[in-house]
Amino acid sequence: MIKIWKRLFSREPQAEAVARPERVVIPRDQHTISRARISPHAVKVLYRLNEAGYEAYLVGGGVRDLLLGREPKDFDVATSASPEQVRRVFRNCRLIGRRFRLAHVHFGAEIIEVATFRAGHQPVEDTEDEPALDGAGEVGEHGMILRDNVYGTLEEDAWRRDFTVNALYYTVADFSVVDYTGGMADLDRGQLRLIGDPWQRYREDPVRMLRAVRFAAKLGFRIEPGTEQPLFELGELLEHVPSARLFEEVLKLFLAGYGVQTFELLRHYDLFRYLFPATDAALAVEEEHYPRTFVVNALSNTDERVAAGKPVTPAFLFAALLWEPVRQLAAELEASGECKTWLQALQVAGDAVITQQAVRVAVPRRFSLPMREIWEMQARLTRRSGKRPMQLLAHARFRAAYDFLLLRQASGEALDELCQWWTDYQASQEVDGEAPPPRPPADSEEADGEGRRRRRRRRGGRRRRGGAAAA
Ligand code: ATP
Ligand code: MG
Repeated sequence: MIKIWKRLFSREPQAEAVARPERVVIPRDQHTISRARISPHAVKVLYRLNEAGYEAYLVGGGVRDLLLGREPKDFDVATSASPEQVRRVFRNCRLIGRRFRLAHVHFGAEIIEVATFRAGHQPVEDTEDEPALDGAGEVGEHGMILRDNVYGTLEEDAWRRDFTVNALYYTVADFSVVDYTGGMADLDRGQLRLIGDPWQRYREDPVRMLRAVRFAAKLGFRIEPGTEQPLFELGELLEHVPSARLFEEVLKLFLAGYGVQTFELLRHYDLFRYLFPATDAALAVEEEHYPRTFVVNALSNTDERVAAGKPVTPAFLFAALLWEPVRQLAAELEASGECKTWLQALQVAGDAVITQQAVRVAVPRRFSLPMREIWEMQARLTRRSGKRPMQLLAHARFRAAYDFLLLRQASGEALDELCQWWTDYQASQEVDGEAPPPRPPADSEEADGEGRRRRRRRRGGRRRRGGAAAA
């Protein structure tokens, strides 16, 4: 009787309460996870917590990727033990985080993140006799969760997660997988579905929109229509996310090996402009292929490097993503006479674009400095007389700047001769330190300038003023 009364007056639409799946336990012989494919350190953490009398599960991307037969990036553990209790179990453990306290268990270079079960800020079970945990989380003016540090049960922990496929729990107690939200069925269908009401879940944390795109690109999953529709409409909420958090998200979006696909999806949902407004405006000039080609080539190079296990740097990524606004503004500054040289124009434009960009996505100084150097070296690389090439070759940023130059050339800038010259020059230095560098043609100082001038004329008056005011 009480349950019926509660259901009638519950704030949740009745359909949702009825549609909520039951807890499903998938036994060992009905799923594909084997302990052998889990990090031995994560397995150790699970056993030790169990032995100490706590519940402990592998959860999140680790379980999802194992079930898909993919190599997990990392292994996260969820437990009934509080962070302090976790610390008492492991000597090699550090507590971190202000918004939510987490335990990091260190094994050499590997860190296993252990999080205590936590409840969402919404009541999870309106139909339970016990009063639901409510009101302990704080919600800000845009519906964003500011604090959600409320410990909870395993079930509550499942419901507060983002996507159903991220809310599957694996236990070494009987090697089963526990599923509260229908994640197994969605995995089978290859579909991403937000848990709960998507509009509300995106409002609570707009970064979930970026996560939807990231997982869709990485897993090749489709985004279930109810989860997809708000993506077209709620992008603006990203303006309220702290720029430092967006920086971290941008790295995950573009440096995880699926950058091109991620970029296409972000553009499709019109989310890219909330991350890189100036770049997005440059891409909007439809008859210009160069800006888009350049970004796609840069991301595709990055994806190839990730696939080959080569290092990728945030500085190069950001330098590439912001190149078009920098190039356009620098061209204006040089044409208007505000800057006397291309080098100076690139310096001024680089500063202005970084300042403008940092409002949206923070760019830490350790990255903005090399970014500026990569851009400036685009001008320096055109100066090939005397000792200059030798000095440039010794510059810490030479390799990145040279790769950047090749990228510009491959994307349609008239830089064939300059690229070839630097390629030959490096070869001559590597093979025989004494070999004379290839002779630059008489007009070599102009090579890069020519490329730019031609482009500049074509662009005519269509250019925005972009960050010119800040310059
Ligand atoms: P990856 O392979 O990129 O590590 P992941 O799913 O493990 O993917 P993490 O960022 O490591 O992603 O987060 C671990 C888990 O924490 C997620 O699977 C999800 O269950 C939960 N989670 C992370 N971010 C959020 C969020 N913003 N809202 C709700 N749940 C989240
Ligand atoms: Mg993870």
